[in-house]
Amino acid sequence: MRHLCRLAVVAGLVGTTAGGGARLAGAQGQPPPDRPAVTVRGQTYTPRSILARNMGTEADQTTAFTPHRVIGNIYYVGTRTLSSFLVTTPEGHVLINTTYERNVPTIAKSVEQLGFTFADVKIVLGTHAHRDHQEGDGLVRQMTGARTMAMAQDVPALRAMKVGDREQTIDRMLQDGDTVTLGGTTLTAHLTAGHTRGCTTWTMRVQEGGRSYNVVINCSLRAPAAPSPEVVAEFERTFTVVRSLPCDVPLGDHPAQYNMQAKHEKLRSGGANPFIDAANCHLETDIQEAMYRATLEEQRGGRP
Ligand SMILES: [Zn+2]
Repeated sequence: MRHLCRLAVVAGLVGTTAGGGARLAGAQGQPPPDRPAVTVRGQTYTPRSILARNMGTEADQTTAFTPHRVIGNIYYVGTRTLSSFLVTTPEGHVLINTTYERNVPTIAKSVEQLGFTFADVKIVLGTHAHRDHQEGDGLVRQMTGARTMAMAQDVPALRAMKVGDREQTIDRMLQDGDTVTLGGTTLTAHLTAGHTRGCTTWTMRVQEGGRSYNVVINCSLRAPAAPSPEVVAEFERTFTVVRSLPCDVPLGDHPAQYNMQAKHEKLRSGGANPFIDAANCHLETDIQEAMYRATLEEQRGGRP
């Protein structure tokens, strides 16, 4: 899965170049195709533009974004394009998405900048078994003694995600609907497969200003260029599941999926918490489902 990183760099370089990439769909080391194009709420996307949007440049993937409180006890400690969330509790913290192993010191620094102690991370969770989201799990486990927990369907891919000779260790295997509790906070794991076999959407409730809000940390819903029948079955179920989750605060494993940058700007200017955004809870799902259906249509139409 090392190709993800290379892909992103290539996508960054050619992101604005039009051209017939469709024939290269799925070819390793090639950028995704720039078709089909779908328009959702006035904005046009292609598989190539979505990947470029998600990953940005190599520097975007490794440079810390200003660490900030999102809502309640949830904090952002990731880079400009790879999300990492810290859920703080009186009994230690949960870290969701360690991203690339080389980002772990950057994440640790962001945690400390917020006034928390990185060694207090007790549980490591992830959204899906791709290196840009979970490669650093083993290192965080080693540094903090945290327990790693993952959806059973993603465990084979996580174990295969070796760093050097070291295999990833998964301390607890989760099933759809399982909960993870620490210091009075409970996260629920929802199997939302398609992008990977065990893609996991996390939900939790937070309190802020005397009110309670439903937070949804979405897993990527980006479909491959040529979805297999198994992947089609997974996505058909997943889009329904994701749309059924109670949601006031949509988050995602790439910040662009929930317009973090624009919301963070608003956060700084005061007023209502911009991350409370029920109106856009399904925006990313709408984009990815439209792309998925257009991709299937192309595939069935036999066009290149
Ligand atoms: Zn991925």
